[in-house]
Amino acid sequence: MDDRYEHFYVGGEWVRPSSGRVITPVNPSTETVLGSVPEALEADIDTAVEAARRAFDERGGWASWDPGRRAAVMERLATEMEARADRIAEYVSLQNGMPITMSRQLEVGYPTEVLRYYARLARTGGFSEVRPGLMGGPVEVRQVPVGVVAAIVPWNYPQVLSMFKIAPAMAAGCTVVLKPSPEAVFDSFLVAEAAEAAGVPAGVLNIVPGGREAGAHLVSHPGVDKVAFTGSTPAGRAIAETCGRLLRPVTLELGGKSAGIILDDADLSPATIGEALVRVTLTHSGQTCHLSSRILAPRSRCTEVVDLLTDIARGLPIGDAMDENTLIGPLTTAQQRERVEGYIAKGRSEGARVTTGGGRPAGLDRGWFMEPTVFADVDNGSVLAQEEVFGPVVCVVPYDDVDDAVRIANDSDYGLGGTVWTTDPERGAAVARRVHTGTIGVNRYLPDPAAPFGGTKASGLGSELGPEGLRSYLRPQSIYL
Ligand code: NAD
Repeated sequence: MDDRYEHFYVGGEWVRPSSGRVITPVNPSTETVLGSVPEALEADIDTAVEAARRAFDERGGWASWDPGRRAAVMERLATEMEARADRIAEYVSLQNGMPITMSRQLEVGYPTEVLRYYARLARTGGFSEVRPGLMGGPVEVRQVPVGVVAAIVPWNYPQVLSMFKIAPAMAAGCTVVLKPSPEAVFDSFLVAEAAEAAGVPAGVLNIVPGGREAGAHLVSHPGVDKVAFTGSTPAGRAIAETCGRLLRPVTLELGGKSAGIILDDADLSPATIGEALVRVTLTHSGQTCHLSSRILAPRSRCTEVVDLLTDIARGLPIGDAMDENTLIGPLTTAQQRERVEGYIAKGRSEGARVTTGGGRPAGLDRGWFMEPTVFADVDNGSVLAQEEVFGPVVCVVPYDDVDDAVRIANDSDYGLGGTVWTTDPERGAAVARRVHTGTIGVNRYLPDPAAPFGGTKASGLGSELGPEGLRSYLRPQSIYL
């Protein structure tokens, strides 16, 4: 491995860590250690924030650049990331068990699309306007960058979720300290290399992998102006408390337990709906925050829905994430698998019925694999239907009529994703509008970079993506002329 990986990318340089502490990510498909990188401690976070601060405060620096000039740097960064696409995808899959075919598509193509989208948005301007005032003169209204951004991401989609923050922050003129999760760090070094090669000015993007304590230190650091977090709801609450005390703007993308409402007119033939249903229920072994992991089925067609999901789940190839044929890779950590097994036991004890899966797959003795599991006869009030399992577990909850389906969908602490399945898209959209959630799809689901992505209730605060995502890195300043 490159000796740059023994350093942190801070202030445009590869700087020596403050201690000898290291992070040693493990390949979840094989349980072997992949290598090591330094672990950021408080002193390293301080150095990174100082570098970002300097780059932000510098006269004539990044924040004051014409947005088109920033956009050109962002486009070069996208090109440099694409030049490293294969290695980024490999690192992601080796670290978090995402099937390699998926990480190629999602963990490289999608983030660079987001980067280019925000570069285009920066070029369209709108950062300043002069309005005719009502008090004796015009007013210049400027949209100025909020400042130094602390970006904290989880391991499940390390590249996508980092770029949801880096791209709008850069477009706005902010500088960033990114703290990747210890489970997925190597890919972040490739982003650092890409930033260096693209000529991203020193200190605009700083990358310091570390654990929870490093994250907490970054969130409360006096040099930080805004926090952008994706992760679990408990961590999000802790971060929100700190930010509340400090009056520091914060965006939180947290957990979910979204509903997939199958309407009574849905076409349930595997050829029509099969692949799409797999994507919205089991993508990345269920370790995806917006999945429709609660499938709501009309009582009259519940058996059909359960049979369809059972057949699909049973046929999915489980295996090493690096295998081109794998659709279900391992869970990312041993603890994550234990947690999922705990939920499966809980579901059984609550009276739900496992129709397929429920255990560790035969023949895969190494690696943290779990069979895709379908539960029928699930009560929406049960723990299985209310808590985020974050594993390959789908539960089917019957409903009586559309009002009942909407009531059940909304009977959740979360509100992040969701889907409606129907042969009548207008009817589907009408149902979707009644669901209390930040995002929802009709017969499909994929966060669109052009539209805000975020949750309501315990799923978070604020939005990423779309023009709304850019706005959260800007604050207005009015100058009475
Ligand atoms: P996590 O909350 O434990 O960790 C996420 C990141 O936050 C890591 O980098 C971690 O080191 C850091 N962290 C943890 N506690 C912190 C604290 N108190 N202060 C500062 N930083 C802290 O989550 P995880 O287990 O890594 O990820 C899984 C969770 O992420 C799931 O609940 C999932 O739903 C959620 N998630 C949400 C979205 C979304 O967009 N809403 C996307 C992906 C994952």
